Amino acid sequence: MKLYDTSRREVVEITPLVPGVLKIYACGPTVYRDAHVGNMRTFLLTDLIKRFAQYQGLNVELIQNITDVGHMADDTGLGGIDEGQGDTEDRVLAQAKTESVDALSIARKYEDNFHKDLKLLNIQKATKYPRASESIELMIELIKQLIEKKHAYVGKSGTVFFDAKSFSSYGQISGNKLDELQPGYRFEGKSDPDKKFHADWALWKHAGENRTQLTWETPWGRGYPGWHIECSAMSIKFLGNKIDIHTGGIDLRFPHHEDERAQSNASANTEVVNYWIHGEHLLFEGRKMSKSSGNVLLVSDVLAKGLDPLAIRLSLLEHRYRSQMDLTWNSISASHKNLNRIREKMQEWSKSSGSVDKNYLAQFESALNGDLDTNKVLQLLRTLEKDETVSNGDRYQTVLKFDEVLGLDLHHAPEAKKEVEITPEIKGLLETRAKARLEKNWKLSDEIRDKLIALGIGIKDSDSGQEIFSL
Ligand code: AMP
Ligand code: ZN
Repeated sequence: MKLYDTSRREVVEITPLVPGVLKIYACGPTVYRDAHVGNMRTFLLTDLIKRFAQYQGLNVELIQNITDVGHMADDTGLGGIDEGQGDTEDRVLAQAKTESVDALSIARKYEDNFHKDLKLLNIQKATKYPRASESIELMIELIKQLIEKKHAYVGKSGTVFFDAKSFSSYGQISGNKLDELQPGYRFEGKSDPDKKFHADWALWKHAGENRTQLTWETPWGRGYPGWHIECSAMSIKFLGNKIDIHTGGIDLRFPHHEDERAQSNASANTEVVNYWIHGEHLLFEGRKMSKSSGNVLLVSDVLAKGLDPLAIRLSLLEHRYRSQMDLTWNSISASHKNLNRIREKMQEWSKSSGSVDKNYLAQFESALNGDLDTNKVLQLLRTLEKDETVSNGDRYQTVLKFDEVLGLDLHHAPEAKKEVEITPEIKGLLETRAKARLEKNWKLSDEIRDKLIALGIGIKDSDSGQEIFSL
């Protein structure tokens, strides 16, 4: 399989270091809130790599961490200077305060929800989901080693920093070289006075008086881990010093992955990760999807509208992982309808026996081999659906094979078709929406579309007007 490696800046053939086994480390969720569909897009990327590798006969070892401590509100990855102690709050602790419960209850609640959401999207389970809060000993050992090797130093306050200048190939993933990083780029005036150099980052942070939860005793005093060291410690512990693929969203390229690479390589004296694969961001209704901007879509929001959660998966597959995409309610409703259409056909085709069509299968494999071109695969699926030269039984077997990677449960029976009953309320909404569209009042048009979806009615706009269907 070929994938785009951020570090080499090109599409490369993925060759496992140990033949037959593919070792993947995926940055997992920070469990202080429900993962949104943007996060899910990144988790789906790992799932596609995993499923396609398995399809090709490889054994996949996948480790995905659970970040339940140490991810600070300002670890945005925008500026590259990870501040030292006490600058902003730990995300899990902040949410614990908001919900008036202890930090670990927050973490476990959102971790449970994360697993439920993965299941709803048919994202296969990882081999293990280590928690940061249960890997503290590993981190302490790793930090001790980095201090011994003179890659890290202890500040007066007890915060331990990585010495960025001690790692000569810093910047290889992101292109952000040390001499180009400006001091105080992000948080002017808040830099820790204990730092020797502005681009050094904290491996272990000294806990001030105010922090009473999620702290641990160490040789440097009581404190808590920096976010980046967690992933170095857990990836090396569970996958060893040689890992094939590391995945994450594009925002993690810097500083998270850059810093992780420096820590891991400095400790292991080798290039630990062979390929760095990043997924582009997901937008929702034209705007960035993020908790801070308030523009989030949750898997539960889609369920609440009576839509199949796998409609999200299908919508995401319409775009290759490497292109930014805009998800909309319209596209999710359309995917819901498409899923049911294909499933209906599959029920019909399943009545005849057949075998996999070699020609279609070869095209399917070539599209996935070529940097996971899922859009091409879906086009191929639509062509096959209409291709009367392929027998029903053959179409059934071929689509079943595609679905090993697509993961859309295409062999499931479709939902029973419901007739749309046009009540006076629905009629009124449709008329108002048609008028709003004529007047280019897109805001009102979208509001009414959402009202209709809440009533269980999907809508599709075409040249001939508004087409409605039951969800
Ligand atoms: P977090 O729970 O914030 O640590 O993020 C979990 C994963 O989701 C990381 O790999 C992020 O890079 C990724 N991510 C965050 N926002 C988006 C988005 N809008 N689209 C795609 N991936 C995202
Ligand atoms: Zn990570």
